[in-house]
Amino acid sequence: MSKTKSNNARFIFITGGVVSSLGKGLASASLAAILQARGFKVRLRKLDPYLNVDPGTMSPYQHGEVFVTDDGTEADLDLGHYERFSAVPATKHDSITTGKIYSRVIEKERNGDYLGATIQVVPHVTNEIKEFILSGITDEDFVLCEIGGTVGDIEGQPYLESIRQVAYDLGRERTMFIHVTLLPFIPTAGELKTKPTQHSVKKLQEYGIQPDMLLCRSQIEIPQNEKKKLALFCNVREENVITAPDVKTIYEVPIVYSSEGMDTQVCRHFNIECKNKPDLRKWIDIVDTVKNPKGEVKIAVVGKYTALLEAYKSLNEAITHGGIANSFKVKVKWVNSEELTDQNADLYLKDVNAIVVPGGFGKRGTDGKLAGIKYAREHNIPFLGICFGMQLAVIETLRNVAGIKTANTTELDNGCEPVVGMMSDFTKDGKLGGTMRLGAYESCITGKDSHVSKIYKSEKISERHRHRYEVNKEYEKALKDSGMEIVAWSPDKTLPEIVEIPNHPWFVGVQFHPELKSKPFDPHPLFVSLIAAAIERGQKK
Ligand code: GLN
Repeated sequence: MSKTKSNNARFIFITGGVVSSLGKGLASASLAAILQARGFKVRLRKLDPYLNVDPGTMSPYQHGEVFVTDDGTEADLDLGHYERFSAVPATKHDSITTGKIYSRVIEKERNGDYLGATIQVVPHVTNEIKEFILSGITDEDFVLCEIGGTVGDIEGQPYLESIRQVAYDLGRERTMFIHVTLLPFIPTAGELKTKPTQHSVKKLQEYGIQPDMLLCRSQIEIPQNEKKKLALFCNVREENVITAPDVKTIYEVPIVYSSEGMDTQVCRHFNIECKNKPDLRKWIDIVDTVKNPKGEVKIAVVGKYTALLEAYKSLNEAITHGGIANSFKVKVKWVNSEELTDQNADLYLKDVNAIVVPGGFGKRGTDGKLAGIKYAREHNIPFLGICFGMQLAVIETLRNVAGIKTANTTELDNGCEPVVGMMSDFTKDGKLGGTMRLGAYESCITGKDSHVSKIYKSEKISERHRHRYEVNKEYEKALKDSGMEIVAWSPDKTLPEIVEIPNHPWFVGVQFHPELKSKPFDPHPLFVSLIAAAIERGQKK
């Protein structure tokens, strides 16, 4: 294992204890943001102990949204938090799972790379994990590595052993362990309880890891005597017991952590002088806008995973960013597409000022999405269709305006009029057929007077994709005759990328996922424009 690969970067490992869902991803992203606000270059990584090779095949109900990076890695949704807070584009170097690690180890074993050795978790699996932690780093000051799951999980053990070894290899002056825990508040006793945290730290110590900082989620401010107690029993400096209180908006987290002294203590740990305060102005401005909006606008998202909003994490954030850019609060009405029909659409949608139909796979809930699209088209409600939402918008127009009743996607019906189908159906060599189009692809906006041309203010755009099916360009004319235009294409003009209805206040369908690139301080222009259109409609009503 080469030490030189990691240059001089310092490594901060973030583990979780007591319970899951404590917001370790958000905590890691927020720490990155405050270190950036001190002028440091950061990088964030996620190590997921589950056995899937990637979350691409997991149900969104199991693991929330699948985040896609520019280089086409299907990754955990925490990478979305990382990008939204740090603006550092994640790559395949930033997301690993046990499935990936084992695939590599087994491949090496089959190739005879281990020269006859018995392959074991320690050192072969742990070496592979260490290799991942240290790889692909250039001139970063800090690399933040979040370990998924909770300390004590069986799957997590090789990861804890690996980070212990990295600290041993690089020395404690280049490594830091932060443990995120929960202090439950017991109302009858009127007390915060530190015992679960003490146990969790003991568990961590069993693996040879002594945390340097505790980040304690708590409903209330942690009294100093409780901090003292935690410090003593967990062997952590008192100033390094940091309160992570519940906040009104997630964009307040970096400000709160910094005021708790987190960045100062991290710098102190690494012997870095930090006389100046971090420059947190952009976060202060965002929080100020979120807390003091000029008004409120309601928009509907018609999807099938509305029972688990984690499945639409980036979309929800991008909508919020669009609101922030317009100084408006956006209230999202989540409409279950399995309940929506042409007959009841009015009931669900008459009070909203924009409708979004997000990406999706498979038949369930499709009719409801089509009903939502039809309602938006016929009632002049601003509409954004994303990926599957765009494909369905094309189908809806061809069915209900062009009268092609069997128009459908071959994903749902092999015998249909294939207005949406696999790429191999339309491209000459068919090589891409059957595989996903993943990651960043360029498209050219050809519709000079189109809405999107004004929104993007650029002819060439690059957006992230995650789909298998494409709109069939053979239907360009039928669409145009029905009032829908293809206004952006893949550079070779084979694959439609954006459609819109020029004769509608705001009706846009995009084959890609704009929500994956939106940031609170750099909102995606499509969402800024959609929310502006929704506000305008609300004011006219
Ligand atoms: N199911 C569609 C496809 O594979 C759309 C995918 C999506 O919305 N991400 O093309």
